Amino acid sequence: MRTWNRVLLASGMMTTIMVGCALNESLSKDEETAALERLTCEALTDEPVELDECETLAPDADVAELVSRVGEDAGLHRCATLHLPIVERERIDAEVAARMASVAPGSSNVTSGTIPVYVHVITDSAGKGGPTSQQITNQMNVLNSAFAATGWQFSLAGTTTTANNAWYTCSGGTCETEMKNALRQGSADDLNMYLNNMGGGLLGWATFPSSYASQPKMDGVVVLTASLPGGSAAPYNLGDTATHEVGHWMGLYHTFQGGCARKASGGDGVSDTPAEKSPAYGCPTGRDSCRNLPGVDPITNFMDYTDDACMNTFTAGQDTRMDQMFTTYRAGK
Ligand SMILES: [Zn+2]
Repeated sequence: MRTWNRVLLASGMMTTIMVGCALNESLSKDEETAALERLTCEALTDEPVELDECETLAPDADVAELVSRVGEDAGLHRCATLHLPIVERERIDAEVAARMASVAPGSSNVTSGTIPVYVHVITDSAGKGGPTSQQITNQMNVLNSAFAATGWQFSLAGTTTTANNAWYTCSGGTCETEMKNALRQGSADDLNMYLNNMGGGLLGWATFPSSYASQPKMDGVVVLTASLPGGSAAPYNLGDTATHEVGHWMGLYHTFQGGCARKASGGDGVSDTPAEKSPAYGCPTGRDSCRNLPGVDPITNFMDYTDDACMNTFTAGQDTRMDQMFTTYRAGK
């Protein structure tokens, strides 16, 4: 089910392809963006009905040219969080609905709170590559600002620092399991955030609340250190990679989950984020990638792929979904 092998394989291929390739023609900015959107759409989609939507985004030739230049992992640039298959999403929806049905109105549905955060700094074996303590403080402030309207807040409960070359460049697999088994603290309602230099063009990935019960030690978010406020990963260096990954950890899907293929609101299980065919990059105001469905794309949403400076919103529907996910899978577990 996990896509990490694909990421690593693609990273390995990149060098080979780039060495053998000398391009004379180049894509326009719009063509390049469309090719990137299609690559991302295809990389994250495993349902045939949803995958069909990706093909209309950019011609094969443009995709081939972009791949030849930046490698097949280009589409995973922002986030490698797994897209759950439809059957799994429906199982989760049913579990949450059952849990919500058992909640008396106004009683035990958890709608706000302060979540303890354990930050695990991973440096290389020489102790280099970690963030400053000020960057961690600034990151916590960015998180709390982003989630303020939802009622959820985050409080730094502890920081560990580990020098380990394998974990420092880890983008999933055995190194992830080892790192998390060694470092994870707390229970289902504690957030563990690992900061490293994952490579492969990735900014981060997260686990969903529904996976805690079967894999409690794997629960958490992994974030590229350079994406912290003031880091070097511009235009993704204002701290919203952590916001995005914590959004997943709270139970949110990408706004482009399911493309235009499912309902008017897309496949993210949230009614007030209009459907979006593929991730948006940059800050394309007015983009409307599902023209036959209502609403322009939610490009300012934290769960899209736009630049940090472009994203500033969790919707009321996402807030409700986070509350229900937290109640079902995290509170008191
Ligand atoms: Zn994501």
